Amino acid sequence: MKVLVLGAGQLARMMSLAGTPLNLKVSAYDVNSDTIVDPVTQQQLGTGLAQAIANADVITSEFEHIPYPVQELCQHSGKFLPNSTAIKAGGDRRQEKQLLDKAGVANAAYKIVVTEQDFYQAIEQLGLPLVLKSALAGYDGKGQWRLKTQADAPAVWADIQQFMAGADHTLPQAIVAEQFVRFDREVSLVGARNQAGDMVVYPLTENHHVSGVLAVSLALPGQQQLQQQAKQMFEAVASALDYVGVLALEFFQVGDKLLVNEIAPRVHNSGHWTQQGADTCQFENHLRAVCGLPLGSTALVRPTLMVNILGEDHVSPAVLSLPSCHLHWYGKGKRPGRKMGHINLSASSTSELAQRFDQLRQHLPEQEFPELDVVAARLKQLQ
Ligand code: AMP
Repeated sequence: MKVLVLGAGQLARMMSLAGTPLNLKVSAYDVNSDTIVDPVTQQQLGTGLAQAIANADVITSEFEHIPYPVQELCQHSGKFLPNSTAIKAGGDRRQEKQLLDKAGVANAAYKIVVTEQDFYQAIEQLGLPLVLKSALAGYDGKGQWRLKTQADAPAVWADIQQFMAGADHTLPQAIVAEQFVRFDREVSLVGARNQAGDMVVYPLTENHHVSGVLAVSLALPGQQQLQQQAKQMFEAVASALDYVGVLALEFFQVGDKLLVNEIAPRVHNSGHWTQQGADTCQFENHLRAVCGLPLGSTALVRPTLMVNILGEDHVSPAVLSLPSCHLHWYGKGKRPGRKMGHINLSASSTSELAQRFDQLRQHLPEQEFPELDVVAARLKQLQ
């Protein structure tokens, strides 16, 4: 089968690598250059979306900020999975919030802000602190503001206005003002749904961020009660969207309750550990779902963690001398903060993983990997 992925980044690349043993041929549409490329080699295969759509058996996506006209062409072909409604919900926080409410899934209290009056009403109704997020343009912590005190309100509003003035005016811009959640930790659930409505989910993953960007994910055994709660929320959202493919839900954990922070209608960075830690990796399961193949087991085969390599194009090759340590580069040019690759580390138990992580840290400079001390302490607490 021929699969066309909208977006030609690392997620399309890893889909292609996972699909090859199944004889699935993955090509990628680079939305910015209007070219079709091999997502592994970046070799150009053609130009123009219409021809690429005609050539594909299935069309899917690796990101949610796809121009609406592109989505419409794909949707019209009848080959687009997941559907455009799901992609739009992932790319527009207003639609995302509506979806979560409709699915009856707990999320942070919010108000849509367009005018200055809305902004001050949000402060009054939701209280401070507030997290304000651009409805359309924000990801990885960008297009976001924190408002802690009433005295800061005029300056934050001025900043938001400036941001909105510089944003794309072909789409209606807005801000989602959210109550600040005092969470205990951030976790995510990656799962897959097929066309028949069957659903499988991976174990809940604990996520550690630096400046709003994922740094480390931990996939460890246990957490049955939370897993069950997360699975129910996943099923509610995936069913509401008639979703097909891999979907990720990011949560705040507050005590023993989960609140959805956001959804990602695609394979997700917090699921990269599945390449070494799960029976079937998320990339293969996404392809299986969209190609109408049976879904693979999502069982955790061994405790595994993932470390993102951000803004660096080199790590010591000595990391490969550690047992069950795997390096995945994305073949991208170096840029500060850019996701360049990741490391997966596995072990037979959480305590062995903690020991191996200590060895791994010796090869990763603290300046470039600032979150690792916190994660090491956390692993010791969990073992
Ligand atoms: P997001 O782009 O929505 O994932 O937000 C980036 C990061 O900001 C999250 O990973 C959280 O650490 C933090 N954050 C987002 N929304 C809230 C909120 N309502 N309350 C507290 N922290 C938040």
